Amino acid sequence: MKTHSRNIILIVFITIILPITTYVIYEVSTLNENEEMIKDIYTDQLETMLFSVNQYSNDFISTVINKVETEFDPKSGELPMEVRTLIWQNGFQFFSIMGGGDIYSMDQTENELLPKVLDLAREKDLLIEQLIGYMKSGYRKLEPAGMIDAGHSVYQVLFAMIKVDDEYFLFTGLIEPLNFVKEVLSPKMQQIGNEEMIVTLQKENEQEILFTTDSLTNNILVARKMWLFPDLIVGISPRSVTMEELVARRLQNNLIAVGLLLALLAVGFTLIIRNLNREMKLSQAKSDFVSNVSHELRTPLALISMFAETLLLKRVKSEEKEKEYVEIIFKETNRLTNIVNRILNFSRIEANRRSYHFSEVNINELLQEIYRDYSYHLDQNGFSHKLINGDHEIILNADREAIYEAVVNLFDNAIKYSNDKKEIIVEVGNNEEEAWIKISDQGVGIPKERQQQIFDKFYRVSERDVYTAQGAGLGLTIIKHIMDAHHGSIKVDSELGKGSTFTLLFNLNGTSWQES
Ligand code: ADP
Repeated sequence: MKTHSRNIILIVFITIILPITTYVIYEVSTLNENEEMIKDIYTDQLETMLFSVNQYSNDFISTVINKVETEFDPKSGELPMEVRTLIWQNGFQFFSIMGGGDIYSMDQTENELLPKVLDLAREKDLLIEQLIGYMKSGYRKLEPAGMIDAGHSVYQVLFAMIKVDDEYFLFTGLIEPLNFVKEVLSPKMQQIGNEEMIVTLQKENEQEILFTTDSLTNNILVARKMWLFPDLIVGISPRSVTMEELVARRLQNNLIAVGLLLALLAVGFTLIIRNLNREMKLSQAKSDFVSNVSHELRTPLALISMFAETLLLKRVKSEEKEKEYVEIIFKETNRLTNIVNRILNFSRIEANRRSYHFSEVNINELLQEIYRDYSYHLDQNGFSHKLINGDHEIILNADREAIYEAVVNLFDNAIKYSNDKKEIIVEVGNNEEEAWIKISDQGVGIPKERQQQIFDKFYRVSERDVYTAQGAGLGLTIIKHIMDAHHGSIKVDSELGKGSTFTLLFNLNGTSWQES
């Protein structure tokens, strides 16, 4: 049995505990690496957010230039009014379209800027060549070409090529960067920042925040140059926690989760072992039970068979002897009936089929009756005995048969487990709260450490040299069930070698007792 349980523990250990523990150890050891990886992924995510801010600005201005390209007529050099309005509405302060040294179209409102734009175009002829090159490969590139200081504002100049009737024209647009960010970009930045992030704008190499989607609570984690406005830096900062805190929190959460997992594992393992032990003990007890019952049945059966045979063969000398043998057969038959009844009662309890029938029971009278029934039996077994019946008549709401059975079981045990000192005292009593029936003997007693277990099914104290009496280990289990059904309890007070007192306790709340 022990090797069997050891094998099961080993299997549980190898199949469940070992792999999980190995996994947990591996996870803990790679936790730091994972956190680094998470940090990288997080930074990548932030970069993607900033990329999309840039991409959005680019797309936005590209849409305007596409419109210019489709609507521009080089012959008249005119741009329809709605296209001009579109240009102004979309953040441009000044624009011009030039080709081959001619100026085709421009914004008339700020024409004093034109000389500066022309200077810049001349200066950046290489860049213009490059942009034409891109166009030839089918791709229009928007390029920041420099800054123009107009006194009241500083403008960013953007260059883009347009192609009309196979000719290339340079579109130059002047944008006041901060204005563009506030008017055009801020909704997009809000959207990107969402609930968790704050998007900011700074001048390169300057601490001052020019624009932010909300007031900053943490450091800026990632910052990138804006493609179209190279002296502006767009940055991103978490709203509530810094990345270190985030990573530390994740690490902490992971460790807590791992700790909990291990604790659960330990609890699970303990439960498995405990359950296993209980099952082992129960199966041991069951096999003991079979041998105990067979043993218990064998004695009365052997006696009945022997005396019945003697009577049958008419070997009995006197009538007196014959009466004695018949009495033995009668007594042993009763004993057999009791054993079988006990087993049947127990199996009813196990199947949840035992029912109780409650009525008013006078406990004093009941005890007197049992005592009367048992006195002869006690006398015959050489016991001195006494019934102490209290001053009060106790009436309980109880199942008479069941209480009778419980008390008789206790009597049987007191007889069975007494050696030389044969003395049994029965006491009925009560106080305000409870009533009791006590049965004391001066027998072998029960070791302290076993006193809880004796109420378990099939349990028998196994110190064989002391406990020679036969039994199946069911009596006390049945009594406990009876007492539970009566909302009462059974208590044992015992000392090895000195004797035992078993007490049935009934709660008097809701029941009545009267003075006799
Ligand atoms: P059984 O008597 O058939 O073994 P019980 O359930 O009645 O089963 O009792 C369980 C165990 O408790 C007994 O095997 C015995 O070891 C112990 N026991 C019960 N009553 C007494 C008693 N009066 N004195 C000593 N031991 C007792």
